[in-house]
Amino acid sequence: MNSLYEQNIKKLEELSIKNGYYMSLGGLLGWDQWVGLPSNGVDYRSEVQGFITSQHFNMLTSKDAVKLIEYFDNNEIKDDIHKSIFSQLKRIQRMPTNLMEQLDKLTVQAQAAWHEAYKKSDFEIFKPYLEDIININKKIAEHSNCNGHLMNGLVEQYEMDLTVEEITEVFDELKVGIIKLIKQIQSSSVKINDIFENLEYEKNDLIDFAKHVVETMGYDSQSGAYGEVLHPYTSTIGPRDCRITANYSNFKNIYGTIHESGHAIYALNSSDKVAKLGLWGGLSGSLHESQALFYEYIIGKSIEFCSYFYPELQKRLPYFKDISLKEYYKSINIVQPYYKRIESDEVTYNLHPIIRFEIEKDIIEEKIKIDDIREVWNAKYKEYLGLDIKNDREGVLQDIHWALGAVGFFQSYTLGNVYGGQYLNTLLKDVPNVYKEIETGNFKPLNSWLKENIHQYGRVYTPTELLVKTTGEKLKAKHYLNYLNKKYSVIYNL
Ligand SMILES: [Zn+2]
Repeated sequence: MNSLYEQNIKKLEELSIKNGYYMSLGGLLGWDQWVGLPSNGVDYRSEVQGFITSQHFNMLTSKDAVKLIEYFDNNEIKDDIHKSIFSQLKRIQRMPTNLMEQLDKLTVQAQAAWHEAYKKSDFEIFKPYLEDIININKKIAEHSNCNGHLMNGLVEQYEMDLTVEEITEVFDELKVGIIKLIKQIQSSSVKINDIFENLEYEKNDLIDFAKHVVETMGYDSQSGAYGEVLHPYTSTIGPRDCRITANYSNFKNIYGTIHESGHAIYALNSSDKVAKLGLWGGLSGSLHESQALFYEYIIGKSIEFCSYFYPELQKRLPYFKDISLKEYYKSINIVQPYYKRIESDEVTYNLHPIIRFEIEKDIIEEKIKIDDIREVWNAKYKEYLGLDIKNDREGVLQDIHWALGAVGFFQSYTLGNVYGGQYLNTLLKDVPNVYKEIETGNFKPLNSWLKENIHQYGRVYTPTELLVKTTGEKLKAKHYLNYLNKKYSVIYNL
């Protein structure tokens, strides 16, 4: 007969496996919603979604689950994997089931409204839904009873071990460094041509090339699928099933595909042990973004990466035939404030999520009203990036996240870059020839390092635990700033 401890560990495992099944269902519904759900199916789907979410939460907050928490509150767990299942369960039990359910139901309709609003470039269509989403999120934040900023109650869903205060400190340092770099670049004598302005291509050629790139990089098509949507998205449906979507309306969107495949490579690389226990897929929030952005920017926009893929690009898209690699590399790294986050350059990109983070914080804490969002948004774009926003589609409607119910998430992107810079610093010490290998099309040293240090653990460790385990220090802006300064000093001769 097993001891009570062993029996309860078994129960904990069963719960975690079933949690994985629900996550899988959520991923599948998400995928369908993006690539297949007809508009007349939205209302009923909203009901189904609400039902599944309530079943999911009922399971995780059942009497048996509460008993397990009580038991392990008094009996220390000896290993990291079970410790992690326990703390995740505990976190979920603190969440207000009825509010999460309400939010989930609302988001199906909100997404449909966002799509219509986006098409018509009219924020007013989406505003009432956003108002409801913000109100529910406010209640969720209040319920969480976190210290400090009210937004901590939302941020903790994505950044389990970082507070708004800590994030603000990192962002403040970053903002100063990045705005300084942008000014240096703008006053540099080096002027780079935008070779993409008049680019013409056959869409299918671009799609085929994008697939060639991401599969060479390590996205396993046997464990994935491709879809085409307005706003790119990754659906993790199981430990060996992660599908990506893309938008090919302009050439630079190829980096969106690289981004999504970065999410997928991470999600698909959980070890068998972790996957079997339902802990597959990776941590949501900044760590997931760090992996996607790492492939997109730090790897995807490096000279070595460009140099390997460029001959193939020239073969497939004749437009590039007479353009040199050097011109391509410089142009893909041109620094130019742009209204659209997902098509922004590596440097100015970071200010976009910071703007949204600051707006969300002020909305949740009632320093600004929903009616003021558009105005505040446009003012911040002018102040940080020097841009005049012409309409709602270019401005407040450009991202779908709020319609997905995700408030308190945006900081993840910029934090992801900061994680990326810090990981890169250690990667280059551990595998000094990593870029040289990429130049020959060999992504194994890179992928093995990421798998060994990050991906294999799925959802076992928190972002800070992993960061400290691998790099020996907590999150710091300096490594990422060093990386940016070094790269752009060469490109812009600073
Ligand atoms: Zn992403």
